[in-house]
Amino acid sequence: MIVRMVIGLVLTAAAFAVAGRRLWWLKRLAFSGQPAPERVEYAKNNVVTDLKAQLTEVFGQRKLLKWSVPGAAHALTFWGFIVLLLTIIEAYGALFSRSFAIPGIGHWAAIGFAEDFFAVAVLAGLATFTVIRLRNDPAKIGRRSRFDGSHLNAAWLTLGLIFLVIVTLLVYRGAQENTGYFPYPHGWAFASWVIAQILHPLGTGANSVIETTFILLQLAVVLGFLVFVTYSKHLHIFLAPANILFSRRPGGLGPLEPMRSGGKVLDFEEADPDTDLFGFGKVEDFAWKGLLDMATCTECGRCQSQCPAWATGKPLSPKQLILDLRDHAFAKAPWLLADEAARETLPPGVLAEAGRPLVGGTDAGGVIDPEVLWACTNCGACVNECPVDIEHIDHINGMRRHQVLIESAFPQEAQTMLKNLERRGNPWGLAEDKRAEWITELDFEIPVIDGRIPEDIEYLYWVGCAGALEDRAKKATKATAELLHAAGVKFAVLGPAEACTGDPARRLGDEFTFSGLAQQNVETLNDAGVGEGSGKKVIASCPHCFNTLSREYPQLGGNYEVIHHTQLLAHLVEEGKLKPVTSIEEKITYHDPCFLGRHNQIYTPPRSIIDAVPGTQAQEMHRCKGKGFCCGAGGARMWLEERTGKRINEERIDEALALDPDTVSTACPYCMVMLGDAVNAKKAAGQAKDTLEVIDVSQLLVRAIKLREETREEEKA
Ligand code: SF4
Ligand code: SF4
Repeated sequence: MIVRMVIGLVLTAAAFAVAGRRLWWLKRLAFSGQPAPERVEYAKNNVVTDLKAQLTEVFGQRKLLKWSVPGAAHALTFWGFIVLLLTIIEAYGALFSRSFAIPGIGHWAAIGFAEDFFAVAVLAGLATFTVIRLRNDPAKIGRRSRFDGSHLNAAWLTLGLIFLVIVTLLVYRGAQENTGYFPYPHGWAFASWVIAQILHPLGTGANSVIETTFILLQLAVVLGFLVFVTYSKHLHIFLAPANILFSRRPGGLGPLEPMRSGGKVLDFEEADPDTDLFGFGKVEDFAWKGLLDMATCTECGRCQSQCPAWATGKPLSPKQLILDLRDHAFAKAPWLLADEAARETLPPGVLAEAGRPLVGGTDAGGVIDPEVLWACTNCGACVNECPVDIEHIDHINGMRRHQVLIESAFPQEAQTMLKNLERRGNPWGLAEDKRAEWITELDFEIPVIDGRIPEDIEYLYWVGCAGALEDRAKKATKATAELLHAAGVKFAVLGPAEACTGDPARRLGDEFTFSGLAQQNVETLNDAGVGEGSGKKVIASCPHCFNTLSREYPQLGGNYEVIHHTQLLAHLVEEGKLKPVTSIEEKITYHDPCFLGRHNQIYTPPRSIIDAVPGTQAQEMHRCKGKGFCCGAGGARMWLEERTGKRINEERIDEALALDPDTVSTACPYCMVMLGDAVNAKKAAGQAKDTLEVIDVSQLLVRAIKLREETREEEKA
């Protein structure tokens, strides 16, 4: 007994010393990042939300279970480890007394059964993981594997260690049954009982030796695993609950964070580029939450598997981006954690790592290649998928901000768009009065307000730049206006007083231009009297405008009740104020705009509009709703060239074409343009029928309402 006690305690002290040292180092590294007081404040002030997040994300494994087979395997392993903590207590107890049982519950048959059940469940989970990893071997299927770029050997070692934890557990428990020291009633711990039957012929003496040896082996493997975890991707076992606790709610999607320096929101009027941070130019410019994100990544590759840039052959993988940042942070850590004097004595390798630019091409030895940085569409698929709530978009846009504002290093084709935004308030640089031209093409009047909205008008229709100025999007704007008019909704527009919300500039990283446009618009909207509590609502057709107006302008003091046009139209149909009567016998598939769906969780209204139109046959594409596939326009990509790989819009249209639809419908002017371009390219190549259309759901509804055959002809003209 003494020997096994001494060996067990020495092993424990050694393992805790090594793991503790590593965890302390990780904590110091994370806090070498910028402060993030808003995360701590939020967590402190929202205890119920925090608890819910822990219960659903950590204990409920919500995101993991969206992938049924790997999710179930992970849930079994996770819950197995929770339940099997009891067996670790028992193993430690057995160091001191062979007849140890957990006080109170240690002889319950149900506990013995549960321990064995979860031990077997973990083995089943391991077998499933093994099959999944073999089937998704990057050596065989290349970048189609979500594990491409992950540390594969470490993953196999992890599976091996977990296997050994379970095997040593079952063997010592089987031996205990034979020596008479097993705490549970005979037979209930069924797997241990099977092992006991195998070991029984060896006799009591041999079983005593096996019992002691395997208790020590069990502790050695568990402690070895503990140390290994702190040095591997399995750190997420410890870090995931904290990362989820401090993630921004809900889910890191929707608005971009304001720019912060030293934990405070940056005020452009007072900011000094020499002393303040303008985005992330070095790894230590990330907030500690960003560094925590990097350390928490499990390398599962779920984000990579959903990324439209990766799927179409671009060099951007959200997983690889996080891993590259993590590798750099770890390699630079000795420099980050040393004081000025000690830095000079660091090895050349560390100094070289410390000198690497965060963003730079291969020649410059950059951590993140510019082509990677600019490939992101901000679609949110990665953030939505990540089981440990890593916030890729915040990191990408933080680096973009530094590139634009400090380095002036961004794709030059975006220059024109930015200049146009500055000079004319729209990306095309068209004159302001052109914004109201579409109204003259209607056969009814729409009040264009210049100042305060009249008392009797409930809605301000925010048309958006594309909706007012781009020919295809203008058709959807007119359809929406006609429907509102037909339903008797009183609405007005701002016309020339409306300016771009600033979304393309902000998503590109030009926070300065965004801030100028946003302040101007907030002033206009406040002067119009549509602020919160006014009883007025803002209708936005463009999901990017919707997201910016409703969720980003509050950062500048603009609070409005904003609804998307599909929400209002669906409501009017439901109320019977709009009655779609004309049968439209068409196969229709709906494309979810990322900023309406994933970023703002609006999935049902556009679909209910399609369903309300008689005769339509709605068909879902394989990638829809939360797993919808981007059109390629977000993240300011609408204004950038797409030089590498397959075009994202064509990949999306290929998916739609597999359903042979008559119409592809959507609810975003950006998507209309991108998907329309892809359909035209397919038609030119003879790969799509000439009659295939891309339209907004409002256009579909107006056709069903107006009873006019010429609607379609009008639109085609
Ligand atoms: S936001 Fe979309 S495009 Fe950008 S990294 Fe994530 S999945 Fe890829
Ligand atoms: S970022 Fe999240 S989804 Fe992507 S590999 Fe890491 S843990 Fe998995």
